[in-house]
Amino acid sequence: PKRKCLGNVFLWFFSSVCSVNCPWTAMKFLLVFDFDHTIVDENSDTWIVKCAPGKKLPNGLRNSYQPGHWTEYMGRVFVYLGDSGVKEEEMKRTMTTIPFTAGMGDLLRFIGENKELFDCIIVSDSNTVFIDWILKAADFHKVFDEVFTNPAAFSSTGYLTVQNFHTHHCPKCPKNLCKRKVLKEFLDKQLERGVSYTQIVYIGDGGNDLCPVTSLKKNDIAMPRHGYTLEKRISQLTQDHSPVECSVLVWSTAVEIVSYLKLLIKE
Ligand SMILES: [Mg+2]
Ligand SMILES: [Zn+2]
Repeated sequence: PKRKCLGNVFLWFFSSVCSVNCPWTAMKFLLVFDFDHTIVDENSDTWIVKCAPGKKLPNGLRNSYQPGHWTEYMGRVFVYLGDSGVKEEEMKRTMTTIPFTAGMGDLLRFIGENKELFDCIIVSDSNTVFIDWILKAADFHKVFDEVFTNPAAFSSTGYLTVQNFHTHHCPKCPKNLCKRKVLKEFLDKQLERGVSYTQIVYIGDGGNDLCPVTSLKKNDIAMPRHGYTLEKRISQLTQDHSPVECSVLVWSTAVEIVSYLKLLIKE
């Protein structure tokens, strides 16, 4: 443990004294992506309902959602789909027709071409099966170093099942997922391996993206999608005189994100 600690001290020393072109420390950015309404232009958990008979859920099921318990609700949706005879292949076919957000293909290709500069993770309240299908079908899976989301799998009887990502004590987040905790654990793990980031770029849209965004530092940047909950929550904090510490750049299409990243790596 002592040597590890010393390693971090050296890392800190070199990153403090070295410029961008320093041979000892490479400039590295961390891109954190939400998935629903950020990478894809829809909610994957809503999109799967297209597989249901008549493309809708029975009222009783639809009304059974209790705030903060989304994963349990989706579990019931998957049981209903299984009971209705919807098979894995049909779900996959449906999920891979979900549209990507405008410009997202270009953004992910740009990141893929510059992987030496960007580490890239997804933190999402969707599930591993959906995200895996969608990214692989579009050949974007290699862009991402890790995907943190609710673990899902097909049972031996062909039913899709989903579990909570983790447990946490954050009062602001849904029971199954605190994205701030995920990000903190990822950063701690990276630091132990000697990786620290020049800047964190957080790209998202939803209410559950606020918790991690409030943990970002002065040098980091939050990129909330224009017109969505995260943007509204961030401006509410500013109005309440407790603005977020990081910079904020609102985007409408991922083309704007590409422009920002190009500026960033030119510096
Ligand atoms: Mg979202
Ligand atoms: Zn939280």
